[in-house]
Amino acid sequence: MQVIVLGGGLMGTATAFFLARRGIRVRLIERGYIGAGATVASFGNIRRTGRALEQMALAHRSLALWTRAEDLLGRDVEFRATGHLRLIFDEEGRADMVRFAAAARPLGLTLEHLEAAEVHRRFPGLGPTAIGASFSPKDGSANPRLVGPAFAAAAARAGAEIVARAGDVRITRTEAGFEVDTAQGSFGADVLVNCTGSGGRAIARQFGEDVPLTPHGPQMGVTEPLPHRILPVVGMWARDGGAYLRQVERGNVVFGGGVTRVPVDGSGYAKYDPAGQVTQLQKVVRLCPALADVAVIRNWSGNEGYTADMLPVMGASGTTPGLFHAFGFCGHGFQLGPGVGDAMAELIATGTCETPIAAMAITRFAA
Ligand SMILES: Cc1cc2nc3c(=O)[nH]c(=O)nc-3n(C[C@H](O)[C@H](O)[C@H](O)COP(=O)(O)OP(=O)(O)OC[C@H]3O[C@@H](n4cnc5c(N)ncnc54)[C@H](O)[C@@H]3O)c2cc1C
Repeated sequence: MQVIVLGGGLMGTATAFFLARRGIRVRLIERGYIGAGATVASFGNIRRTGRALEQMALAHRSLALWTRAEDLLGRDVEFRATGHLRLIFDEEGRADMVRFAAAARPLGLTLEHLEAAEVHRRFPGLGPTAIGASFSPKDGSANPRLVGPAFAAAAARAGAEIVARAGDVRITRTEAGFEVDTAQGSFGADVLVNCTGSGGRAIARQFGEDVPLTPHGPQMGVTEPLPHRILPVVGMWARDGGAYLRQVERGNVVFGGGVTRVPVDGSGYAKYDPAGQVTQLQKVVRLCPALADVAVIRNWSGNEGYTADMLPVMGASGTTPGLFHAFGFCGHGFQLGPGVGDAMAELIATGTCETPIAAMAITRFAA
């Protein structure tokens, strides 16, 4: 079997890596630079709290791989299981947390429910006005800049061929499978995996299956470096998702959320909108008041595909034998990435996947 994985973000590089480890011939084709799409823009949150329940089994599979990332990839991608603290500021947030915790428990995620006094004792300086929190001790974060290139390098060591800067590709259906013409040459394969992020809709459409997907970007920022005091990833139970933050080991506090996502313009990028900055920072400061007088040194956004039902597209094509999809991760794909790569490789190699992914099938949109 010869596989072409299209798209060199976290999903494509992880899929190529796990395919190559299974001894399958795989070529990864990226139109630009490896890991430079939504993946590099990510906040880096590796959280299961608040995740769609349909993804929970996949999220567990992925977390197990994140914990082995250094061994698997041969380098530290800064995965740290610091825990994920999600603060509660009102009764609506508490009710949402209790409901989610009850639904997630039978699916294997047990959240600690902390009362206000315990939050303040265990996490001094975080959410002083919070009335409680959930805590998920095994979740954490990793470095979004490192992970795509690390998976691609490990895939190459395992035998995959990496073709970057391939430009605009042209895909043709052939008798043997697929032909992909690129600026770096033409390549044939019997299996094609569409891991092109927000570009996934265009590829699927070419094969007669449309997906209601729009590209948007969450809005992010980072502060100057500060003494390293904030250990967990911190979020809030809020129906708009609320703001969230984490402190990297060299001291900068990365934050996001709290404002609407920005659309992607004709250049293919979503630009941070400063109009929302005051609102965003007010929410960030609610999480950690000590950040009130700190300088923000950079803001950014990224180009991510959001589907109409906020679940990704994952699995076999509904129209075309040999075609597989893994795209449209709706702002939640960083945590899932290693699990997606492993599950896609299993599906392609064996025809089945031990992790339930049927809820993410592209055929759900066919009607
Ligand atoms: C600002 C921001 C913050 C986020 N924060 C988090 C977070 O904290 N936690 C979390 O779990 N998730 C988060 N996400 C989501 C997560 O980053 C994405 O879901 C994930 O990185 C998607 O990976 P991907 O490989 O599908 O897409 P991408 O990383 O976008 O990769 C797709 C690649 O395909 C290439 N491509 C496109 N079309 C073609 C083509 N025709 N031919 C060849 N190549 C092509 C692109 O150039 C790109 O490199 C965030 C996303 C953004 C934008």
